[in-house]
Amino acid sequence: MREWTNQYNAFNSMKALVWREHFEGIVKGKFLPPVTVDTDPTNQCNYRCMWCNAFDYMKGAKHTLSEAHLVKLADFYKEWGVRSTCVAGGGEPLMNPGTSALLERLQQNGVEAGLITNGALMTDEHIDIIARTCRWCGFSMDAGTPETYAKVKGIRDKKMFHKVVENITKLARKVEELGTKCDIAYKYLLHPVNAHEIFQSAEIAKAIGVRDFHLRPVGWDNIAVTKDKDPISFYDILEDINKQIVSAMSLENGRFRFFGIRHKFDPYMVRKINFSKCWATPLLATFGADGKCHLCFDMRGRKDLILCDHDPDPREILKAWGSEFHKNLIAKIDPRNCPRCTFGPYNEITEQVFMEDGMCRNFP
Ligand code: SF4
Repeated sequence: MREWTNQYNAFNSMKALVWREHFEGIVKGKFLPPVTVDTDPTNQCNYRCMWCNAFDYMKGAKHTLSEAHLVKLADFYKEWGVRSTCVAGGGEPLMNPGTSALLERLQQNGVEAGLITNGALMTDEHIDIIARTCRWCGFSMDAGTPETYAKVKGIRDKKMFHKVVENITKLARKVEELGTKCDIAYKYLLHPVNAHEIFQSAEIAKAIGVRDFHLRPVGWDNIAVTKDKDPISFYDILEDINKQIVSAMSLENGRFRFFGIRHKFDPYMVRKINFSKCWATPLLATFGADGKCHLCFDMRGRKDLILCDHDPDPREILKAWGSEFHKNLIAKIDPRNCPRCTFGPYNEITEQVFMEDGMCRNFP
């Protein structure tokens, strides 16, 4: 199965090769400031998704960072030399009214922002700000009908599907009106309950002005909310999924692209671990809603993987970053106990390209 038509795209993990100095720093044990950071404005959410990967992080105390602190973070990112931030995290970022000020300040500071949202709370004011300030905005949709949407999101009100579709439409129009470069993604975590709606969803996405349809299998193992449930298997429905992906790719044109991301999984969509150790977390720092810096954004909620506090003073991380404590935290990770590793390909690149020199990297 092809994952994409054009390899020069945001979802191709090989883009990490442009961060050469960062990988070399990791291998030498001299970490550079991270390429990017995650910013979690809140760990509260208005939805209860079936497979929430932030379940551990959200189930305890509720945290929301103040607007003043979010602005302070945006200033610190600039000072630290961070290039971008994904505003999302274990919660719905638009539940924090300070998220708008954060996005504005990031833009003023030249730090690129991307936003992941369920879109349900998006107002016209948000739409204007996002269109002006974000490099991309991903909507967690995971469905192509109101019924499936309500089921996977754990909500009763089926009309929310239409509301979010309308918000995406408005954002697409605003981006066009302003002529900004904000790529809108219809994000689709694939699960057996929504697998029959891939093509239908892609048609909707194209019709409402979405640029990228991003499909990938849902992560489910080593996640608290799904740990007592039966393992997910796509085995019996794989043929239908693949047919829908081929049909959805035929919808592509200059304005719409379909991505069926598989490279972090085996052919049956089970997560794969093609690396011996965790290496790549210093490419990204996670500034959590709980005021802590977490070692890995896939492991938010793990109390033994906290680097330091960032609230009230984000500069605390300068003391922890690259310290022996930091390195020891990474060294004790056993990837087999992690959930699906977003940075799996980056761990693999560290070993294959920068330790083994498998690509003979200093030659054309
Ligand atoms: S999920 Fe585990 S292996 Fe992957 S980056 Fe995070 S800590 Fe490392």
